[in-house]
Amino acid sequence: MKKVLILNLIFVFLVLGACKKDKGTINIFTVQDDIELGREITDEILSNPQDYPVLDENQYPEAYTHLRRMRDEILEKGGLRYKDVFDWEVYIIDEEVLNAFALPGGNTFYYTGLIKYLDNEASFMGVMAHEFAHCDRRHTTARLTKVYGLQVLLSILLGEDPSVVAEIAASLALGLTTLQFSRTDEYEADEYAVKYIYPTKHDSRGVAYFFEKMNLEKNAEWMRYFSTHPPPEDRIEKIHEHWTNLGQKEGELFDERYNEFINSLP
Ligand SMILES: [Zn+2]
Repeated sequence: MKKVLILNLIFVFLVLGACKKDKGTINIFTVQDDIELGREITDEILSNPQDYPVLDENQYPEAYTHLRRMRDEILEKGGLRYKDVFDWEVYIIDEEVLNAFALPGGNTFYYTGLIKYLDNEASFMGVMAHEFAHCDRRHTTARLTKVYGLQVLLSILLGEDPSVVAEIAASLALGLTTLQFSRTDEYEADEYAVKYIYPTKHDSRGVAYFFEKMNLEKNAEWMRYFSTHPPPEDRIEKIHEHWTNLGQKEGELFDERYNEFINSLP
């Protein structure tokens, strides 16, 4: 028992000794590990349509064309670090939930409830860019490491622990508090969301529109969301600060085209 513990400690020490510090976040995983881990969780989600009713691309090709067009615009102009490295697959889950989530390695999921709740492309792309920032700034792996521990994640990469993959997928999809990002990560994702969208034709304050709309209604979703996230007023203010610092370029909202996207959904 003791021997195992000591060996574990040595192992952790060795691994941590090789870690890189990235803006205060310790991440011992390689970029390739992010990709592998994200693929494992993606496979788990796609293989379980009962729990994750991912919209079938063959049945709803138009919806995916819209989704990918918006993704490509962010990737082409946003200046993301892992633009050519991560997978950046985008999926729609057909459920009336106000949520989106990001996996390590670039894959992201958007609920139809969230898509239909928003009014224009600028807002949706703001949310998408926010999720992309969690991937590209590698918040996702850092967070998973903190919650599940290094060895558990390594065991997934070695194919030894499929039950944890299912647990991680469920926690992410349900937006469970255990896997919430830190406030710092949320603020950083908002900041990069503005930076990624700014060079496009779209209004780069889109992610703030989402908070503003939620703030007007203050419904049960609002309570659930903001009990675990930084307060919306702070986030809106900071988003406007980043936009001001970049030069206050007014972009377009593209509400008609967004309507086409919504109409292409079930
Ligand atoms: Zn976030």
